[in-house]
Amino acid sequence: MTLSIPFIQPATEGALRFLAKQRKKLLIDGEWVDASSGSTFTTHDPANGLLLAVLAEANGADVDAAVAAARRAFQGDAWRGMTPSARGKLLWRIADLIDAHVDELAELETLDQGKSLKTGRLAEIPASAEQFRYFAGFATKILGTTIPTSIGYQPAGKKVFAYTTREPIGVVAAITPWNSPMLMAAMKLAPALAAGCTVVLKPAEETSLTALRLGELMVEAGLPAGVVNILTGLGESVGAALTGHAGVDKVAFTGSTEVGKLIVGAARGNLKKLTLELGGKSPAIVMPDADMDLAIPGIARGIFSNGGQVCVAGSRIYAHRAVYEQLLEGLASEAGKLRLGHGLDPQTDLGPLVNRKQADRVSGYVSEGVGEGAEIVAGGRQAGDQQTFFEPTVVTDVRQDMRMMREEIFGPVVAVTPFDDVEQAIAFSNDSPYGLAASVWTRDLSAAHRLSARIRSGTVWINCHSYFSPELPKGGHKQSGWGYENGAPGLENYLELKTVCAVI
Ligand code: NAD
Repeated sequence: MTLSIPFIQPATEGALRFLAKQRKKLLIDGEWVDASSGSTFTTHDPANGLLLAVLAEANGADVDAAVAAARRAFQGDAWRGMTPSARGKLLWRIADLIDAHVDELAELETLDQGKSLKTGRLAEIPASAEQFRYFAGFATKILGTTIPTSIGYQPAGKKVFAYTTREPIGVVAAITPWNSPMLMAAMKLAPALAAGCTVVLKPAEETSLTALRLGELMVEAGLPAGVVNILTGLGESVGAALTGHAGVDKVAFTGSTEVGKLIVGAARGNLKKLTLELGGKSPAIVMPDADMDLAIPGIARGIFSNGGQVCVAGSRIYAHRAVYEQLLEGLASEAGKLRLGHGLDPQTDLGPLVNRKQADRVSGYVSEGVGEGAEIVAGGRQAGDQQTFFEPTVVTDVRQDMRMMREEIFGPVVAVTPFDDVEQAIAFSNDSPYGLAASVWTRDLSAAHRLSARIRSGTVWINCHSYFSPELPKGGHKQSGWGYENGAPGLENYLELKTVCAVI
């Protein structure tokens, strides 16, 4: 399919200024430095292939330097001695700076990742600021408890006084994916800093720009040197070196299940604590009494937003036969309404996927599915000068055993399947190695809650899909991950308990 993408300049002075300095550096110990080897790699606008920046490619020596800086900062007075209130204010200042630069950050995210400007401008960048605000409040509320004890073998006349403290884990390696780069970084940095940890952040090699700009804003906010270090580079080198590094206490990872499993192996050496936010293949169950005016656009948003490059994208829809045809037609019509174009064009609903490789991958799943009997009801074609776009696609006649139904496509492709009996829909929904999220669409709220209880996933939405807020814990069951981000459990990831027991 032909789709010509015009060249569009960012409109904000901030984005122009950031891009004008094309050569980007690493942030180590509060200084912006080149990679010690002098190596670089490049990042491009996926819509038109234009060069955006030349990034420093960190290696093992840079990992050593960043981890050492993070360790010094963890032990140093500037961070350790900072009062909880000052730490909270610092996080709040970072949030305010993100808000003050929302247009610029949204433009950089669009240029680097492809997403439509409105996705970044209205959702992901403001949500990143909210991450810092939410966790800012926790900095002053990290408490222990005093504990009365029962076993009485202390010397006569003495008693036991015992209490717990909750301490920051130490140096955290935060490794993020390319689909929502700024938000994924904020989800790790905010709780880690609220807890008092220090961080080495490695953004995805495909989309590092907003992490670097966020680094500048954090320095401007007054973050002490070494508290956050940022290493750009490749997963198999920088990521692997960080996850195997003896100086790292914890890895907070968001990315694919495949890499998550590699990290489990790499972290074994010093038994690092791990949080793994991994892949998904999220189902939606549409009951016969669903409000279809809500369900059709809601399910369409749940799969097509950000070109389906969302871990919780609702890619498997099980619709009761009474509403199946209506849903199929409705989704096809919603898909047809979405305008493909450069993300910076205000008319654009769907930008390109992150790169040609990802668009080819999506295309591969669709053609394999068609070869096995799937029918395309809408979309299905790769497009654009760079072949980086993929049309929003609705398919049917996809069997449970097909790769298209079992593997994460991470593109704007949804499979719709009818069911007659709700037990069958529950069985289909749970028939997956993943368990990240699901949604249920019905007017019967009792049925909705009963269904939610039977779906094996970390989140279940009722009459919506992909709703996030920093207050709500998110994490995966089964092979979708270990641990939770956000909410109070999200803070616990970065703390460990100490019991102090005294005879007094
Ligand atoms: P990916 O696993 O390929 O890469 C993620 C990060 O890991 C990148 O920074 C990469 O450089 C790094 N990495 C790669 N190999 C590594 C290694 N051997 N050791 C250490 N780090 C390594 O994932 P991706 O393609 O960037 O992102 C898409 C995936 O992320 C999808 O599976 C999606 O579901 C998942 N995701 C999950 C969530 C969630 O909250 N569960 C959110 C967003 C994305």
